[in-house]
Amino acid sequence: MIQENKKNSGTWKKDLRLYIHVPFCIRKCEYCDFLSGPANEKNIKAYFEALYKEIRSYKDRARDYSVSSVFIGGGTPSCVDSDYITNTLKELGEAFDFNNDNKLEITIEVNPGTMQVTNGSDIDRDKLIAYKKAGINRLSFGLQSSHDHELRLLGRIHSYSEFKENYRIARELGFNNINIDLMSALPDQSIASWEETLISIAELNPEHISAYSLIIEEGTPFYDLYGPEGKSQDRLPSEDIDRLIYSRTKEILSAYGYRRYEISNYAKEGYESSHNKAYWEGVSYLGLGLGSSSYIENTRFKNTRLLDEYIEQINSNHNNIMSTYSSSKSHINEFLLDKFGIRRDIISLTKNQQIEEFMYLGLRKTEGVSKSDFLNRFGLSMDELYNDLLVSLSKDKLILIDDDKIKLTDYGIDISNRVLAEFLFE
Ligand code: SF4
Repeated sequence: MIQENKKNSGTWKKDLRLYIHVPFCIRKCEYCDFLSGPANEKNIKAYFEALYKEIRSYKDRARDYSVSSVFIGGGTPSCVDSDYITNTLKELGEAFDFNNDNKLEITIEVNPGTMQVTNGSDIDRDKLIAYKKAGINRLSFGLQSSHDHELRLLGRIHSYSEFKENYRIARELGFNNINIDLMSALPDQSIASWEETLISIAELNPEHISAYSLIIEEGTPFYDLYGPEGKSQDRLPSEDIDRLIYSRTKEILSAYGYRRYEISNYAKEGYESSHNKAYWEGVSYLGLGLGSSSYIENTRFKNTRLLDEYIEQINSNHNNIMSTYSSSKSHINEFLLDKFGIRRDIISLTKNQQIEEFMYLGLRKTEGVSKSDFLNRFGLSMDELYNDLLVSLSKDKLILIDDDKIKLTDYGIDISNRVLAEFLFE
């Protein structure tokens, strides 16, 4: 739970992570309930202009923090002109103090199919070159499957061969830290089909693989088909198959040299995502852009999810806000204030909620949680607080306890949702 970075200048600063939301996609996938959708160029431009203003508003009030990772996610950040991404990073660099110890991780989500070759110009290559020039050093490909029929079922716009071409170009341009997102438990998906996807991707040797199960979210076309009332519910894999998929995923990826470091995330040595780990370790992060979530100093909040409201609020308040900064002395308080009136669902976590999050998020990591960290943070002994629960989960072979660490066993990971819920107080 290290929350501080040491600056070269010798002053200590708090660790901060930044998430930038790009809420645009070429078209909506069948299972997706993320805050994303198609938009015209006029809306995209208005959105980014508001985003730049939001970023600029942190200049001078974020000086107690040092940024060690940035994640540009969505939506599909790669579906917009790369100038928007370049400018976003330029604005971030001017408003925030970036950690200068060479470990700064800057990731962008890229979707194959948003970087096609059009009008004779090689957009794939141009976009990737622009990202590299802007300082992006990690790509996260939203692939999901190596089978075109599964991609079509999910409503993805790309084919596997398009992905492979994008991946090849990324490697050629020198991107040496690449994640590939995969999705299991799809309707009609056999274990053999999932294994083929895993093996095809592992053969490409990316540094990181995220392997999530499909979740049927309310309000999506998939929910109507495969949800509790859906007529095709029986096309989803059973819970037993789902568990088998989890264990086969670990077996196959281990054989290719990947280590599972979180329930659904695998990496080659030294390539765990610093940004993702920060979420599970309770490090502060600031979300910028539509609907993005933040967690700062034990307070959670989200930006509004309404595009028009986000743009209007920022544009109507921007001039007033910027003129007050020069006279401001209280930078920490300024950082925590909702300058534009765009934050929603602001929750200051109680001590119990902080404890729940420490356990619930920390146990997602295969290294588990540390009893001494817990004691330092909350002034309580984990053994005393959770004694009966720890004994019973250990007896059921769901967790492993050693001197300082508690971690999920492989079986515990297979049914992690149930095990983690045990650490909630209510
Ligand atoms: S590309 Fe991603 S964010 Fe966009 S609709 Fe598909 S799943 Fe949702």
